[in-house]
Amino acid sequence: MDTKTKKLLLLNKLYSSYANCTACPLANFGRTNIVFGDGNPNAQLMIIGEAPGKNEDLQGHPFIGRSGQLLTRSLQQAGLNREDVFITNIVKCRPPNNRNPLPLEIKTCKQLLLFKQIKIIQPKIICTLGALALEGLTNQRNIKITKTRGIPLNIDGITIIPTYHPAYMLRKPKELNTFIKDLKQAHLLLNSQIKK
Ligand code: URA
Repeated sequence: MDTKTKKLLLLNKLYSSYANCTACPLANFGRTNIVFGDGNPNAQLMIIGEAPGKNEDLQGHPFIGRSGQLLTRSLQQAGLNREDVFITNIVKCRPPNNRNPLPLEIKTCKQLLLFKQIKIIQPKIICTLGALALEGLTNQRNIKITKTRGIPLNIDGITIIPTYHPAYMLRKPKELNTFIKDLKQAHLLLNSQIKK
C-alpha cells in the first residue's frame, strides 16, 4: 500500500471516530456536520483556518463560501492547487452565530483531531489563516496578525507561515497581494525543501 493510501485510511478512521463527537460544547448548537477537512492526505502544505461557517457546516467541507473561493483563487495565483494541499480548521464544528471558538473548544478539538491530522499527514509547512488560527495552534494570545504574518516559525520541525484570514481580504481587498505573497512564500519554501 502506498503512503498516500495509508494516510487516507488513517484519516478516514479518525474522521469516523469523531463524526458524532460530543467532546466539547460545540456539539450542542445544532451542528449539521463535523467539518473534518479535505484535500491531499499526503500534502506537504496544510492550511488551517479558524472554524467552519454556515456553508461549511451545511456541506461538511472547509472553505467553500466566499472566503473559500477567494482562498482557492489565491492559492492558484501562488502556483498552488487546492487539491494538492490539505485544508482544515482549528475547530471542526460551527460556533453559534460564527462567534470565535472558546479556549476549551480549541483545546479539546486540537487534542482529539487537529494534532492527530498533523501527525498523519506530516506536512512540511502549515499556513495559518488569521490571528485565531495562529493563536490556537501555538497557544499564544493577543496576536496582531498584521505584525506576525509572513514571518515563519518552527514548531516541532514544521515551518508555520502565518497569514491573513481570507475573509479579511473581502473587507480589505488591498491586502490581497500580501496574502498571495505569503502563499507564494510557502510555495517557494516547499520547493526549496523538496530539492534538498
Ligand atoms: N472560515 C474559516 O475559518 N474556515 C472555514 O472553513 C470557512 C470560513
